[in-house]
Amino acid sequence: MAKEKEHLNLAFIGHVDHGKSTLVGHLLLKAGAIAEQQLDDGENKFRFVMDKLGEERERGVTIDLAHQKFSTKKYDYTVVDCPGHRDFVKNMITGASQADAGVLVVAADDGVMPQTKEHVFLSKTLGINQLIVAINKIDLVDYSEDKYNELKEEVSNLIKTVGFNPAEVPFIPLSAFEGDNIKEASSNTPWYKGDALIDALDKLTPPEKPTDLPLRIPIQDVYSITGVGTVPVGRVETGIMKKGENVIFQPAGASGEVKSIEMHHEVFDVAEPGDNIGFNVRGVGKNDIRRGDVAGHTDSAPTVAREFKAQIVVLQHPGVITVGYTPVFHCHTSQVACTFLELMQKLNPATGAVDEENPDFLKTGNAAIVKIKPTKPMCLENAKEIPQMGRFAIRDMGQTVAAGLCIEITE
Ligand code: GDP
Repeated sequence: MAKEKEHLNLAFIGHVDHGKSTLVGHLLLKAGAIAEQQLDDGENKFRFVMDKLGEERERGVTIDLAHQKFSTKKYDYTVVDCPGHRDFVKNMITGASQADAGVLVVAADDGVMPQTKEHVFLSKTLGINQLIVAINKIDLVDYSEDKYNELKEEVSNLIKTVGFNPAEVPFIPLSAFEGDNIKEASSNTPWYKGDALIDALDKLTPPEKPTDLPLRIPIQDVYSITGVGTVPVGRVETGIMKKGENVIFQPAGASGEVKSIEMHHEVFDVAEPGDNIGFNVRGVGKNDIRRGDVAGHTDSAPTVAREFKAQIVVLQHPGVITVGYTPVFHCHTSQVACTFLELMQKLNPATGAVDEENPDFLKTGNAAIVKIKPTKPMCLENAKEIPQMGRFAIRDMGQTVAAGLCIEITE
């Protein structure tokens, strides 16, 4: 059997209308993931692809992440939802697919805009450490090398402020609409000697499975199966679980020895990150555990947070957030109402620098360090130690109002 290709998740980030959807649509066409006939006519020819996915998502009940796949000779790629689509940050934080690399799209005629800065900062905060910069709409500035160099310098300065090394970041002049430098070098930019986008993508480093981190399996469901007993089901986020090991479910506290591990009706002795498994633990019954619990090894049990510090971004709140506000936090598979205990610092959303100590309130667009108290114990990890288990979305009034990361467990 042919060896499976390695896989990367890509996020397309950048200011609204700078051409993210168009670039994804054209890339899917050039990579052969969609056919010409699937495209619309006219100005929105390519971006239509992403809109279509959006509609499909609206219809779907459980599919939270609009994504599309394509392959090159080297890797398989999944495009995770573009920002601008409303729930991007929530998806990045809670979604199955953490992005492994970002493609920052900056329109050559418009330059660096507020969302360009915001998305660059957010990506770094959310753990995207590889970046490709697409200077898009190069056709609209007459394929000008001077304009490209000017923007390259501007964007280099921006990404440097959040900790990227511009010397290691490929910059590509391209036209998402016309197709220049997406798959092959364009004769319209003879002055550009670098890679086309697909070649630059193929030079990215694929993610390593987080097998060295402590074992964490957020429980999605708990089944009773005749002949087997209680079978908690979930996806291994980090670490490795072997048959015969002792595991504990937190905050429930139930523990026992792993008797069996199953995936797609096949029996396994070992489960690793990314595996969706059902497993059975000696002595743990259906009423001892529930969705939202997290399984880990007994000697490195999942952390139960009773109070924690978080870095958050307010995405869309109709009013203001003040001390005492108690919305629902969605973290891995758990949902727990949590109270804002303290607004510690307001941060500049573009740079992360402290703008204000102890602000009175937070509103849409603000980034902040806050102290949070769950109304009941919940499993949460410091995102610096186990990133996969330290992100959350904050929901209220039927929408995602904010998203964030745990930066310290204080109790
Ligand atoms: P998004 O909001 O970043 O996803 O931007 P879209 O992909 O929706 O593009 C916004 C507009 O810019 C659309 O009308 C596109 O057709 C147009 N556009 C995108 N890329 C290019 C490009 O490379 N050249 C030109 N001329 N227009 C482009």
